[in-house]
Amino acid sequence: MLERNDAVALETSFANGGQLSYSYVAPLASPSVIPKIPPWLLRRDSPLKFVPEWDAAQWRWILSFLAACNRRRADLTTQRLLRLAFYSRSLMHALIAAHRLDFDYVRNGKLVVHTDAASFESAKRLLAYQESLGCEQEALDARRTVEVEPALAAMERRIAGSIYTPSEDAGDCFKFCNELARVMTAAPNPVTLKLGVTIRRLLALGKRVIGVETDRGVFEADRYVLALGTTASAIVRPLGIRLPVYPLKGYSLTLPIVNERAAPRISVTDYRRKVVYARLGSDLRVAGMADLAGREPVIDTDRVGQLVDEVRATFPDATDFSRLQPWCGMRPATPRGTPVLGGTPYSNLYLDAGHGALGFTLALGTGRVIADLVEGRRPAVPLDGLRLDG
Ligand SMILES: Cc1cc2nc3c(=O)[nH]c(=O)nc-3n(C[C@H](O)[C@H](O)[C@H](O)COP(=O)(O)OP(=O)(O)OC[C@H]3O[C@@H](n4cnc5c(N)ncnc54)[C@H](O)[C@@H]3O)c2cc1C
Repeated sequence: MLERNDAVALETSFANGGQLSYSYVAPLASPSVIPKIPPWLLRRDSPLKFVPEWDAAQWRWILSFLAACNRRRADLTTQRLLRLAFYSRSLMHALIAAHRLDFDYVRNGKLVVHTDAASFESAKRLLAYQESLGCEQEALDARRTVEVEPALAAMERRIAGSIYTPSEDAGDCFKFCNELARVMTAAPNPVTLKLGVTIRRLLALGKRVIGVETDRGVFEADRYVLALGTTASAIVRPLGIRLPVYPLKGYSLTLPIVNERAAPRISVTDYRRKVVYARLGSDLRVAGMADLAGREPVIDTDRVGQLVDEVRATFPDATDFSRLQPWCGMRPATPRGTPVLGGTPYSNLYLDAGHGALGFTLALGTGRVIADLVEGRRPAVPLDGLRLDG
């Protein structure tokens, strides 16, 4: 495995929201998002921000995103992602049963809290649809929500209702990746990690890749799997492959928990503000924001301030704000919200790309699908709608 950094998981997988959100996979691209876009664009503190760039890829991404904002497409995407997410959940549980992995993993369930009645009503409709696809979820009123998660007491008066999913997990993605690297490099058939190697381009002859040109020379293999986060599209572009992945910048805060009872034990999502909260060991991880604002992972202190305000309003006594660690990362997002998996026009090149806001949740499922394809086995989940050609 080639990696440009000196360790694994130092980019988008570093300090993400920590949610293994197997039942919350509905894409951002949905009809309900269209009326929200104008107010979001006008407010400085909105969960979604758009900074126009001289970049055709950004505009193409936006047009495809808008085209995907219809009920049929959103339902289809939800169905496909749920299948992949449930598969990932079973693989995660099997992995944890087989290995001692230390990554602050908890099976703590999740509450998605709604602060306006209309969005709670539409969440209940989604609950009914997802029930038909195998999700076990429950709609709670404000009082029951606070009974289930007492740390939400400060917010009770604002709560219209919540959707509770007991079967959701959480964990620290950076620690998980490092634990996985430990297990994989120690296995009977160990993986070799080549760290500090930057891929410059893929070398192809006809419709086969024959090598990877890097700053440390050329590496050759029988088959190649491209899993490069937001860089993937630039690396395949010279081969004539257009991968619709564009960075969607998000922010997180890691805060020490100083008051056990005031911090949530269950993972919480504030639906309107699109902010997620997870307890990771002795820390509270808070994540949110989706900024279509270029390709540089530069922290905007205004956005960090807005996220701090959210925590103050929701869990005011849980943490010591003077010790917060801010971070931003670039989600490798596709307009529809589905990853791009499987083969390419090059017979020995495979893609495992475009995981967007669900890379931790889906990683084990998508990884196994690709491993099966590389080995010539039939993947356990169908790939319709997830392949490069749609
Ligand atoms: C704020 C935020 C919160 C999130 N919360 C959650 C969550 O709660 N749950 C969830 O499931 N997902 C979440 N996500 C999404 C998740 O973090 C991503 O989907 C996931 O990290 C993407 O993984 P990746 O392996 O595709 O990309 P990365 O983790 O970025 O890995 C790509 C790797 O490729 C390497 N690379 C790139 N280019 C080259 C090159 N040219 N040569 C060599 N190496 C290269 C990079 O160094 C990097 O290590 C969140 C994301 C953000 C930003």
